[in-house]
Amino acid sequence: MAPETILKPADFQTEVHNDWCPGCGDFGILKAMQMALADLKFERHNVAMFSGIGCSAKTVHYIDTYGIHTLHGRVLPFAMGAKLANPGLEVIAMGGDGDGLGIGAGHFVNAGRRNLDMMYVIFNNGVYGLTKGQASPTLKLGLKPKSLPKANINDAVNPLWLAIASGATFVARAYSFDIKHLKDLFVKGIQHRGYAFIDVLQPCPTYNNLNTKDWYGGEDRHDESGKRMPRVYKLEERGFDPLVRTEDEADEKKLQALRVAAEWGDAIPIGVFYQNPLLATFEDRLREQIPGYMEEPPAKQVIADAAGRPTVRVQKFLDELVVT
Ligand code: SF4
Ligand code: MG
Repeated sequence: MAPETILKPADFQTEVHNDWCPGCGDFGILKAMQMALADLKFERHNVAMFSGIGCSAKTVHYIDTYGIHTLHGRVLPFAMGAKLANPGLEVIAMGGDGDGLGIGAGHFVNAGRRNLDMMYVIFNNGVYGLTKGQASPTLKLGLKPKSLPKANINDAVNPLWLAIASGATFVARAYSFDIKHLKDLFVKGIQHRGYAFIDVLQPCPTYNNLNTKDWYGGEDRHDESGKRMPRVYKLEERGFDPLVRTEDEADEKKLQALRVAAEWGDAIPIGVFYQNPLLATFEDRLREQIPGYMEEPPAKQVIADAAGRPTVRVQKFLDELVVT
């Protein structure tokens, strides 16, 4: 790419009205995503971002790429369909914890099993922010943020555990107010060959007054010298090694990731928990079953002639479905 065409974060910004509340963690995620796309020198027309429904879903309106705001809980089927139709696209799905782990939980599991080469980001604030702060699937049992009349009666889903159990081959957690670290994780997740899931801890100051920026930053905790003790810490700074280098160590690396992903409270790890670049992607498996698919995927096929008459031969497709 010529120097004059090198992209900057500003190249992915759009001049549209922003509806997020002041102090929302979403701003950090937006900034980190713009920085990651610029770092990777993507051209706008090669990036497609999908969102579900929720505050987080507005992100696709604020990034100057293709943006598709879909249905509640259905962001992954839309994103996976686009990736299959045009495997050359960089596909990024994003949505809230309620969207992805409530109504979208079945899609969350099945996306892991497929291992398509794409990234999914959850904005995790423990509440349904867009609809005034009801308890989401990641709010811990017994917590009572100011938006609830009584303490949460359900236990929480651990998104990292569920992602690892479902087969995601890149599993990470980030914190929305550590933008540089979050940007680096986005870059790693996009570059990973396979399905990358990133859980972003995203304070919602309007409805969740418990898991706040101050709480994550340890404003209420001090060591003997009076120094603040942040709750969030980086796995890589403690020598944690998430990478699967040989297939026979994959299970042990998963167990290691599950153990560290159980930490919460006074010590909350962020970083890459698990990464397995060795497993065949969905695209690899497709290439084996349908030779030529990747060279001529649906998005590149001619479906009509110059007069608009369909040229698709349905019989050819039906013949491929015959069980022999
Ligand atoms: Fe952010 Fe919460 Fe406001 Fe939604 S309601 S924009 S998540 S602070
Ligand atoms: Mg939420």
